[in-house]
Amino acid sequence: MEIAQRETRVPATERVGPRKPFRLRERSRQLVLTAISRSGPISPAQLSTSTGLSRATIASVVSELVGEGRVVGAAEEASGRGRPPQLLSVAPARGYVVGIDFGHSHISVALADRSGAVLAEHNQDLDVDASSEAALQLAAESLRALVATRPDLPAAPSSVVMGVPGPIDNTTGRLRAGTLLPGWTDLRPAAELAALIGSPVLAENDANLSALGELAQGAGRSVRNFLYVKAATGIGAGVIIDGALYRGARGTAGEIGHVQIRENGSLCRCGSRGCLETVASAGFAESLLRQRPGSENLGLRELTGNGSPAAGRVFNDMGRAIGRVVADVSSSVDPEYIIVGGRLVDDAGELIDGIAAAVNRYTQPYVSAQLQVIRGALGRRAALVGAIALAVSTANSPPGVPAVTM
Ligand SMILES: [Zn+2]
Repeated sequence: MEIAQRETRVPATERVGPRKPFRLRERSRQLVLTAISRSGPISPAQLSTSTGLSRATIASVVSELVGEGRVVGAAEEASGRGRPPQLLSVAPARGYVVGIDFGHSHISVALADRSGAVLAEHNQDLDVDASSEAALQLAAESLRALVATRPDLPAAPSSVVMGVPGPIDNTTGRLRAGTLLPGWTDLRPAAELAALIGSPVLAENDANLSALGELAQGAGRSVRNFLYVKAATGIGAGVIIDGALYRGARGTAGEIGHVQIRENGSLCRCGSRGCLETVASAGFAESLLRQRPGSENLGLRELTGNGSPAAGRVFNDMGRAIGRVVADVSSSVDPEYIIVGGRLVDDAGELIDGIAAAVNRYTQPYVSAQLQVIRGALGRRAALVGAIALAVSTANSPPGVPAVTM
């Protein structure tokens, strides 16, 4: 009722009516839906601020979405005199989406409702690099087992998004050569998984999904422009510009691990020389720290344990190398935050200190004065949360209209 009343007060000249192009209207609808699902209960005034749409457009679009049953509103308790503001939420829709995260040593599968709330989740350790076939089979079996626990859900998901630790060429759907997953090179992971589960699948790079995860529910929730840096087996980044993921022409934007920093440096797995990853990666840290007597057979966790000063310096140096590249990207892209995640940050906090020091040193002063380097809020769940967020966005987009923020 409240919303219908607001609608009648909108001046006719400001309305987004049927004469405006269809795609513009759909874009406004998607902006509003995404903002509501991302922020939880939100007032029309806050919606106007976060989307940049006029109050009149918000009123018109919200009225339409409430009429379709996709958005519900509740009055906030009044704290004083006057009418309490309306708070809007996404209506829980029938149907579900699937998010899947393939790491190097684990597979996580989650079912979520159309608002992104997780309904069921399964995590399993597996050497994902060893056999793409076994990993995809396991993901399909996990999904079947999860769906079997929820007889209340429809048989087919509304949308499925999978994350893989490698760059996917979005013109071919193939993982690019030189990927972190040697057994997966040239594979079309989305098509392979789709054949196993009988539903369409969207595949996305895990750093991109982690950026979307932090944007949807983590440290990037209220941030329009940030870089997400994933420091793990390799180094990757997800670039969020104006609230949306920037993928580039072929979907491989953000591959900062292969920026050359030493012309005559070591050979990189990508075929080039002196890439950032040759001096900053889990494998590089292991190779250095194993040079200490008695450390030859230790894993990274043992090598970095107990506040080892040597590990602290190695991680700080790696952070500075990453930060040197991130500084140049920052001077070009002008983000508000650098959000850092990935298991190398969990292993040693000195990594993030090194990144911050180099970003501060090598960006232009007016950029570094505004720029903060912070740790991601979602830890290792970032990619799974991003997969769910992208799946929700895809499921909520009408056919033929791409999701605007994902
Ligand atoms: Zn390389």
